[in-house]
Amino acid sequence: MLSTIIYRSHLADDVPVKALEHMVVKANNNNELYDVTGILLFNGTHFFQLLEGPEEAVLAIYEGICGDQRHHNLVELLRDYAPARRFGNTGMELFDLREYDKESVLQAVLDKGTSKYQLTYNDRALQFLRTFVEAREKENYFEIPPANYWDFVSDDAADNVCAEEIAIAAADEPYRFAMQPILDPFSCQTDSLEAILHSPGDDSPLEHLSQLSRDKIYQADLHSKKFAFALASKLGIQGQRLSINLLPMSLVMVPNAVNFLLSEIEANGLVPEQIVVEVTEHEVISRIEDVEAAIKQLKAAGISLAIDNFGAGYAGLALLVQFQPDRVKIDHKLIRDVHKSGSKQAIVQAIIKCCSSLEITVIATGVEKAQEWMWLEAAGIYNFQGDLFAAPKLNGIPAVAWPEKS
Ligand code: MN
Repeated sequence: MLSTIIYRSHLADDVPVKALEHMVVKANNNNELYDVTGILLFNGTHFFQLLEGPEEAVLAIYEGICGDQRHHNLVELLRDYAPARRFGNTGMELFDLREYDKESVLQAVLDKGTSKYQLTYNDRALQFLRTFVEAREKENYFEIPPANYWDFVSDDAADNVCAEEIAIAAADEPYRFAMQPILDPFSCQTDSLEAILHSPGDDSPLEHLSQLSRDKIYQADLHSKKFAFALASKLGIQGQRLSINLLPMSLVMVPNAVNFLLSEIEANGLVPEQIVVEVTEHEVISRIEDVEAAIKQLKAAGISLAIDNFGAGYAGLALLVQFQPDRVKIDHKLIRDVHKSGSKQAIVQAIIKCCSSLEITVIATGVEKAQEWMWLEAAGIYNFQGDLFAAPKLNGIPAVAWPEKS
């Protein structure tokens, strides 16, 4: 199948621009071997390349390009399929944008077209090309330093009070929790702690709960929170914000659910204003009016609302209208390798923009790589959760690895 990949990258600082011609000649020989054709643009700093050819061949060439040390901050802009090549001439045509004006480059690119029909800029791939030539997206190019620019230094000051005693005491409890912080790495501040239900064995908390009969799931989900509040209290979280996940239907199906939560919060010396209830998109969509009524009750009691795994489910942006959450936690699938994916970047930027207008705090979850964090920080996110900084700790508060310039 004929496939197209488009990426943008930044010429490495230690590579002289003069070396470019030689690079192109070598690349051309390689492309010819693999039957890959396309267009390469260079503007003095950035490359823009469109690769076309049989899928495996394009992927093989692209893999080599991704590993090339002579450029960095490579962002994949498009990966698509087409009935025929746009640029079928041998190898790769290079256009140095510094040598021509924009109009003539755009026309010259069309003239290189070998497709059956005259190429036009109606095509998505060529729209990306035009945007690059016209330098219209430049404010979205975040040049992030390499991963080794940062050291992550553990504070281990948090190695908490009587963790062992708590672990022993918790051993017999039906529900155990692990704590994972949400934090602002630049100001070295912990925003909140999330109490994550720890399931025995390898299954996820939800799988564990789903082994129960239908009416017991909600009962168990709600009652487990009692142990989360108790753990938070034993760990001495004081005024710290505490996040818990709740199936929205637990609030509907269990009688007096909100009162149960409120009395457990009080019994453990906590206040509703420090509690954040996280609900997941896909759970919300059934019986939406009932869920809405329960959420009103939570808010009326002072509890904040977060939408968890945002961007992973089906309900989408309409939820922001319906539930007016205080916080949105972007799903880890959108965060993974966001620094390398133009599509993820576009979606995350739209979420940031939308939440900013709605005064909703955005949290990036599942952050594992320094580059993910740096890209997100550059895009305007300040709150992060993920193993890069602190993995969940059973019965305790984990130490945080704060970034420091190496
Ligand atoms: Mn959560």
